[in-house]
Amino acid sequence: MPYITTSLFSLFKIGPGPSSSHTIGPMKAGKLFVEVCSGLPRELLAQAARMRVRLFGSLSATGEGHGTDAAVLAGLLGTKPEDCPPGLLPRLNAEKGTEYRIELGGRPVMVSLADIVHDSIIHAYPYSNALVAELLDGEGEVLFERAYYSVGGGFVQWDGWQAPEFGEPVYKYGSMTELRNIVRAEGLNIYEIMLANEMAMTGATRPQIIDGLNEILDRMEQSVEAGLQGSGCLPGPLKVERKAHMLHRRAHSLNAAPGKFLAALNSYAFAASEENASGGVIVTAPTCGASGVMPALVYAMRHDMHVGDRAIREGFLAAAAVGFIAKHNASIAGAEVGCQGEIGVASAMAAAMFTDALGNPSRYVENAAEVALEHHLGITCDPVGGYVQIPCIERNAMGAVKAFNASLISTGVSPESQRVSLDAAIAAMAETGREMSSKFKETSLGGLAVSAVTC
Ligand code: SF4
Repeated sequence: MPYITTSLFSLFKIGPGPSSSHTIGPMKAGKLFVEVCSGLPRELLAQAARMRVRLFGSLSATGEGHGTDAAVLAGLLGTKPEDCPPGLLPRLNAEKGTEYRIELGGRPVMVSLADIVHDSIIHAYPYSNALVAELLDGEGEVLFERAYYSVGGGFVQWDGWQAPEFGEPVYKYGSMTELRNIVRAEGLNIYEIMLANEMAMTGATRPQIIDGLNEILDRMEQSVEAGLQGSGCLPGPLKVERKAHMLHRRAHSLNAAPGKFLAALNSYAFAASEENASGGVIVTAPTCGASGVMPALVYAMRHDMHVGDRAIREGFLAAAAVGFIAKHNASIAGAEVGCQGEIGVASAMAAAMFTDALGNPSRYVENAAEVALEHHLGITCDPVGGYVQIPCIERNAMGAVKAFNASLISTGVSPESQRVSLDAAIAAMAETGREMSSKFKETSLGGLAVSAVTC
């Protein structure tokens, strides 16, 4: 089986919400297209006049609610997700008629929001989230085009794409079983294996990786804090009220555990998710839609449980292993496998992080991840109106609470008594996702998306 060569910082990405596959991925695709066009022959560029981007599949069906149009435009204009200024996407959306100029080979090429076109939902491209970027001449004829695929978690591929050249990992694994065998054979913890691999693959030093992890944890915390300050309604026609601050107040008013702790955990998950839904900067963990689950546990460990940052970092690396294995053997995209791949995987990652950070052996860590994922199997992706709000925000809170509970269940029994392995749960998720109708995979054509009364 091929082994995992994903870097930590390509899974955990800082960028604007509300969707890694529909916002961050398309923004990257727009930027990549302009870069590739810059290298085209001068004679071709001399004829270029406009750019157009056609959205297919789920990007076409729910792109409007996910900010895809503005994200593609921002990418064409040179914005990187990690540097996206707050408020840029709503501003581009508000200035619909504005014509923007892109310099290509010393010539101006024009583009506006109207050039981001919603095309067929059913298509023959190899991935559901497809977009075709085109360079046009003055008559509207296509001079050059490239199809990009937003494959989940902000990752982008295209025809002929090759995985980035990384060094070889020290410890090669493609499944939890293989990782567990390495843990046993080498007498190492999961975090030690992850750190050694990251250093070998990327050439980064240990302090550089730790700095990067600290920044990710801090950005997660900031997304919770920004969300706790938020009030009013989220963008879009659903008029969903921001509730994190109310839940947080309620947590303070309760006197005793467990209600107090769970209410606080809910408020943290709501806070980061509402920040995501409003286009604020979040960390994909593993996606934007699921960006409230891990931050809720990180915030609770830092502020309510006073767990040290070193332990949280080590737990975070165990969570990364779970995310890598899920992505490698199934998918982390709602458009590919439904919400089980987003909130389900996020909950499994959070359960692993929490269990590891509290000092439990790696077998408990694996089992906690399995329990959390198992109880998300079959969950569809059916965001109402295509907005990452209903059911996404509450689902983040449920994912965080399930992660906490999965850790309690797994650490309360003998690890050998658990009958289902994490690999088996991931394989079940992949099979369930394959069999799931496309109307339940981020197209907003079925399920809750068409049953909810929103006005
Ligand atoms: S329902 Fe789940 S997978 Fe779908 S957009 Fe919402 S959080 Fe993402």
